[in-house]
Amino acid sequence: MNRKFKAVIGLEVHVELNTESKMFCSCSSAFGAPVNSNICPVCFGLPGALPKLNKRAVELAIKAGLALNCSINRIFNLDRKNYYYPDNPKNYQITQKDYPLCYGGSIEIEDSDGNYKTINIERIHIEEDAGKLLHLKDKSLIDFNRAGTPLMEIVTMPDITSPKEAVDFLKKLKRLLTALGVSDCKMEEGSLRCDGNISLYDKTYNTAYNKVELKNINSFKALEKAFEYEIKRQSDLINCGKSINKETRRWDEQAMITQVMRKKEKGEDYRYLVEGDASSYKISEEFIDEIKRSLPELPEERYKRFIRDYGLLPYEADLLCEDPCVSDFFEEAERTCSDPKAVSNWILGELFRMLKEKNLKLRNIPLSGDMLGKLILLIKEGSISSSGGKAVFERMFLEGKDPKVIVTEEGLLQNSDGKYIESIVDEVFIENPKALKEYKSGKENIATYLIGMSMKKSKGKANPVLVKEKVLEKLKRL
Ligand SMILES: [Zn+2]
Repeated sequence: MNRKFKAVIGLEVHVELNTESKMFCSCSSAFGAPVNSNICPVCFGLPGALPKLNKRAVELAIKAGLALNCSINRIFNLDRKNYYYPDNPKNYQITQKDYPLCYGGSIEIEDSDGNYKTINIERIHIEEDAGKLLHLKDKSLIDFNRAGTPLMEIVTMPDITSPKEAVDFLKKLKRLLTALGVSDCKMEEGSLRCDGNISLYDKTYNTAYNKVELKNINSFKALEKAFEYEIKRQSDLINCGKSINKETRRWDEQAMITQVMRKKEKGEDYRYLVEGDASSYKISEEFIDEIKRSLPELPEERYKRFIRDYGLLPYEADLLCEDPCVSDFFEEAERTCSDPKAVSNWILGELFRMLKEKNLKLRNIPLSGDMLGKLILLIKEGSISSSGGKAVFERMFLEGKDPKVIVTEEGLLQNSDGKYIESIVDEVFIENPKALKEYKSGKENIATYLIGMSMKKSKGKANPVLVKEKVLEKLKRL
């Protein structure tokens, strides 16, 4: 019989920090510059060049640490990790070994039953990125623009027990870091990269098997598929009586399998030593307090507040809190029309549909939350129909014009004149004596019929809210 295993997963997430310049020099850290244009003696690793630590990078990493409930080391070191690789011109990387900037901390994720589960964070340290190798057909080239870019590495405890939990964790982390402005977290540009390790544990036999490291995971889908593949591969090996090799494997996106990169007989020896050119730093309480004060409302808190204060469903709040720009837009529209449910429906429906269709981001279109709030009010008062509302929304989305102006331009305004509506309803009542008789004998849904007839008579131009009011009022008086 095949045995059942529990997966034990830990993640190492590399995040590029949102700084103007590199970690130890003033070169630009912008993505997409011409190859080897942002380099200097420091990040190019020339002899005698001295590193100078980027204060903003430290600030951003502490900001992330505080938002992740970490403790902050008041004194921290930088260390040299020695290794040779063509994209690493100094033959060592400046990183942190024993005294990371932040330690401890956690993120809560929800399991499938809606219960909270804590994923603990072991540490967050800062380090510099390496250059980038470009592999051509018969040669490889190196772009050093990325060398020295500030990175933060977030290491979790092995608390994750399924591929789905790994994805949930990374999504929450990405949402948090984006909201904090710590990083733009673009997996496609490499500003958020994830490695992981996984081993299996057999509860019945109380046996733990060897750990395998996974690299080259570049999307949420890859993260899920790579771990699913490894669980299956490792279970099959154990069930056949084979052993699991300690090794590093890379995810092959095309083949949808993991492949061996290197075997690990024992831990690599990087001959760490303290970085003498930039060794010990002290962080003042004032600096930490200042960062604490700058923390915005965190997405998780906002998510809970949206459910509590606006009565939204968890999935609605979740989608609205994905991007702080969308959350702000929601609250702005809600302030104008005081109808959170309608605002949520418009955003999750029409707005998201059009953004997707036009491949745009909310921050790049001229539509404001206030405009959407005004449009919702126009529909609620019955000044325009809901189908007219959709036409107005499309133009607001593209042109950023006030909904009232568009309604007038398009002739969408519904007739709300009391006398006009009364005259129409009166006519309908006179023309339908049979219906009135049926109403009196207890057929309540005749009201809907009479409203429909009145709307038809006005060729759809009468304000339906007022027509309904008038019909019900007249029926009551029968
Ligand atoms: Zn430089």
